[in-house]
Amino acid sequence: MDEARERNLGDLPVLGEDPGRTYRLGIMGGTFDPIHNGHLVAAEQSRHDLGLDLVVFMPAGSPAFKQDLRVSSAEDRYAMTLLATADNPNFRVSRFEIERKGITYTVDTLSALRELYPDNVELYFITGADAIIDIVKWRDADRIAKLATLVGATRPGYNLDTAVDAIDRSGINFDVIYLEVPALAISSSHLRERCVAGQSLRYLTPDQVVGYIDKHGLYVSQRIA
Ligand code: NAP
Repeated sequence: MDEARERNLGDLPVLGEDPGRTYRLGIMGGTFDPIHNGHLVAAEQSRHDLGLDLVVFMPAGSPAFKQDLRVSSAEDRYAMTLLATADNPNFRVSRFEIERKGITYTVDTLSALRELYPDNVELYFITGADAIIDIVKWRDADRIAKLATLVGATRPGYNLDTAVDAIDRSGINFDVIYLEVPALAISSSHLRERCVAGQSLRYLTPDQVVGYIDKHGLYVSQRIA
């Protein structure tokens, strides 16, 4: 990888150094408000099952479909994501989408990553299968299809028909892999509701995240989201 390219990576990992092999980079896209064990298991399972070299958690700066909803600050979401992933050598966290001004569109992220990394680095965009149902409404969905393989993480018992139908009807040639992740019975909205109700978050998200939420008084009042 040439020096200029490496400099431009910022907090993104260097990958693709050996032109003789293919690398697989997972990009874990989400709002992470807050991050929880379901996200962590989904990332680890994706890494293992798809043979990813690394997974970069990328908290959305200003989530495209949540412009009318209350979302915790990007800095809080970033800090919790850092705390949650710190002990896994295969995980990274990037401020890439947080630093970009304006609404966060996945196509902008993937296009930029495609330019930053050499061709021997394949991109895998991992997110919830529920988010993927709406992908045809995402900006430049057809370009996204050319830039990355999509990984839709689902909870057990999740009916894939809606997601599969939405993709089929789009007429866009998405490459989608669905992964069933038992721990995704946990959701961020459930954690927020538990906070409002004064219930414990222990064992649903790492202790460090529980501590951060307590210390900063996140999610204590009723939310719109
Ligand atoms: P969301 O609509 O809040 O999430 C839908 C479902 O997917 C929820 O059940 C959610 O659970 C789950 N989920 C979200 N991220 C996940 C992940 N990484 N792994 C496993 N499950 C996940 O989705 P969002 O968080 O706002 O957006 C997800 C990603 O899609 C982000 O990277 C976002 O930027 C991108 N996106 C892009 C566009 C666009 O470009 N126009 C539009 C929408 C979304 P939790 O609530 O528990 O996470």
